Amino acid sequence: MQNNHDLTAIVEKLKQAKKICILTGAGFSAESGIPTFRDKQTGLWENFRAEELASVQGFQKNPELVWQWYQMRRNAIKDKQPNPAHHALAQWQQHADKLGQTITLISQNVDDLHEQAGSLVYKLHGNLWQNKCSQCGLPYTHEVKQTKELLFCEQCHGKIRPDVVWFGENLPKHEWQVAELAAFHCDVFISIGTSSTVYPAAGLADIAKESPGYPMTSVIEINPNPSLAKVVDYFIPEKAGEFLPQLVERMCK
Ligand code: NAD
Ligand code: ZN
Repeated sequence: MQNNHDLTAIVEKLKQAKKICILTGAGFSAESGIPTFRDKQTGLWENFRAEELASVQGFQKNPELVWQWYQMRRNAIKDKQPNPAHHALAQWQQHADKLGQTITLISQNVDDLHEQAGSLVYKLHGNLWQNKCSQCGLPYTHEVKQTKELLFCEQCHGKIRPDVVWFGENLPKHEWQVAELAAFHCDVFISIGTSSTVYPAAGLADIAKESPGYPMTSVIEINPNPSLAKVVDYFIPEKAGEFLPQLVERMCK
């Protein structure tokens, strides 16, 4: 692995790439003021492990508690805005045609900051702003506002839950298919702001690196702290919001 800070070398590598797959995680939104999962929970919630709250078992055990935790998270992020990394990535996607590139953006984030910045994004872990029935899966499209009380499905009277992927649940089929294909076929895979601990998303870099038809695929990681990913060729120990705008300016000029 190269501890490669050399922007020129990275830009050269990326300019030659036709297919680029980008995976983002909680660190991408950190500079927007949204805590990552590594940050300690605060206040009322500090005695709970995220895994207890973000699981089917947790919801079955104490649905009110889980619902209120998600309502708190919604409240905490509702005014957050895309940061320079979101804007830079959206700009790069918008220039991709001109550069002769296909950029597939895959995110583990349940916030909607990539969308707000104008990116097309495939969300592997769902959307914090959407709800569905925990029993029949029907989307619940009414506004839920700040309500702390549980809501119920009009079709089957099941409890309404946030439409996010919990520990132990499968990823949405279509999004995962897009992600796997994009990772398999890419020339460069870029992982940004993820600790690479949660599978299957963390395995996308391995898929990129090991796809037999693409032995030259490079994996780039942008993260102030190295993640657990083992297949990184270029590690850039910088914050997404500081590095990406410089990179994209060089790519698009
Ligand atoms: P993470 O919190 O595990 O890792 C965040 C990473 O971002 C860290 O490696 C950190 O060094 C890096 N980072 C911090 N600031 C950065 C910056 N400015 N620029 C670039 N990188 C920065 O988050 P993750 O990897 O996205 O977690 C994966 C998935 O785990 C989540 O999508 C979620 O589905 C799941 N998870 C959920 C919960 C929950 O629901 N509460 C809890 C734990 C994990
Ligand atoms: Zn239902």
